[in-house]
Amino acid sequence: MKVKIDLEKCYKAGECYYNHPELFKMGEDGFPVVLHEEISDESLIKHANEAIEVCPAVAISLED
Ligand code: SF4
Repeated sequence: MKVKIDLEKCYKAGECYYNHPELFKMGEDGFPVVLHEEISDESLIKHANEAIEVCPAVAISLED
């Protein structure tokens, strides 16, 4: 699965990279960067779903 971030919606609140540094890092411009092109590990998918739930901008999604 692929983790996607809609940068048009993201307002750099930072919850994703502060809570899930295994999936995201802060880019130089303050926007999050997804660390993995593709994830298949169950635990990473669970963490991605947690990040989706807490993103205040509803900017994160998981795609097949
Ligand atoms: S949690 Fe959402 S709004 Fe905050 S930096 Fe991540 S994608 Fe952007």
